[in-house]
Amino acid sequence: MATSSPSRSSHRVVIVGGGSGGLSVAARLAKRKGLTVQVIDPSQTHDYQPLWTLVGAGVLSREAARKREADVMPRGVEWVQDAVVEFDPDRNAVATRGGRRLEYDILVVAAGIQLDWGKVKGLDGNMGRFGICSNYSFETVNTTWDAIRNFKGGDAIFTHPATPIKCGGAPQKIMYLADDAFRRQGVRDNARIHFYSGDPTIFKSEHYAKTLLNVIARKKIESPHFRHNLKEICVQSREAIFDDLAAGREVVQKFDLLHVTPPMSAPDFIKTSPLAASTGWVEVDKFTCRHTRFPNVFALGDCSNLPTSKTGAAIRKQAPTVATNVVDVLAGREPSAKYDGYTSCPLVTGYGSLVLAEFDYELKPAETFPFDQNKERWSMYMLKRHLLPVLYWQGMLKGRA
Ligand SMILES: Cc1cc2nc3c(=O)[nH]c(=O)nc-3n(C[C@H](O)[C@H](O)[C@H](O)COP(=O)(O)OP(=O)(O)OC[C@H]3O[C@@H](n4cnc5c(N)ncnc54)[C@H](O)[C@@H]3O)c2cc1C
Repeated sequence: MATSSPSRSSHRVVIVGGGSGGLSVAARLAKRKGLTVQVIDPSQTHDYQPLWTLVGAGVLSREAARKREADVMPRGVEWVQDAVVEFDPDRNAVATRGGRRLEYDILVVAAGIQLDWGKVKGLDGNMGRFGICSNYSFETVNTTWDAIRNFKGGDAIFTHPATPIKCGGAPQKIMYLADDAFRRQGVRDNARIHFYSGDPTIFKSEHYAKTLLNVIARKKIESPHFRHNLKEICVQSREAIFDDLAAGREVVQKFDLLHVTPPMSAPDFIKTSPLAASTGWVEVDKFTCRHTRFPNVFALGDCSNLPTSKTGAAIRKQAPTVATNVVDVLAGREPSAKYDGYTSCPLVTGYGSLVLAEFDYELKPAETFPFDQNKERWSMYMLKRHLLPVLYWQGMLKGRA
């Protein structure tokens, strides 16, 4: 193994990505003596993406979920404002777009997920027009509330691609909020709401799936179309074209509002690197988050192949695991901390109601509160709206939660 010897008094940890995962680990490691921690990230800003669901529903502005990256960089961490373009794990180094080469004793990869907008034909140039919108980026999230508040009736379509995505529940959360908004606007009677998903079920954990299907029935949303993957949009005819993956044929659906969750994949610079598994994600052990071939490399969050739902909540549990195991490896020990696959999805079902799904690798509930979380609750909506952002900015990003 190429890491430095345990006897050295100073070690260099390089973290690729200063998003949820990168900063959560950086904050924890920066508190340790004898470590130089560098975070490489080109972005000037940092978004608390879970709030975008509520931004798209008109509850708050996208600026309310954004801070300057400089303001959230943990104390004692060196921020390298550059993008990594190449990994050289045999020589313990990364190369940046700006022409720098950074060497490390330990590398932590937390570069997030890539949004493959271009894989939906006809989407380019039409976001924000013809009722086409998406909560999935800072640049597009305002299009959603515009589309919802200007909707006068017809077919409102919400899509979920056939790839892994971040926050598996987000494509349907905005649908439930839109249903609520249409009722408030007095247009629900003229609307048909459809959910087209590349997945075979409404939600991975069966425990919560039943509740969501009841919500769909109660709200009189059309019966969901599973295993349907959006591949093309024709704006002239206002049609969305799906591959019916089960039947192997095309399905055409008229739309007046189309909320697109784009296909996603590992960032290209990871896919083409020696760190990637055959799926493109960084290949790590599912319990220790340590790379399976390069023992001084770790990964967490959306870019990793950890077989759980990709959420910030999952990162809250992955980060302490990675931080502990980094220290173990630097001390010449085997990684002692284990991640159990915990993830959580606050499933907003309307303005003021939410089912707080929490589960592990076995998709079994791993709930925090001493009451049945598989119920729509106002208190859990308030938790998402008001408490979780504070927990994120003041807890997770400071290495305290
Ligand atoms: C609409 C929506 C709703 C969501 N709702 C929830 C929710 O309710 N609950 C929940 O827990 N999660 C939710 N999530 C998911 C959550 O936001 C992500 O899972 C989480 O942010 C992933 O963290 P990450 O560190 O892996 O990636 P990110 O936080 O995306 O950070 C990746 C970082 O890597 C940097 N980067 C990229 N390329 C490079 C490069 N080449 N070199 C260096 N740096 C690079 C980026 O600039 C970025 O700062 C939601 C996401 C969305 C979009």
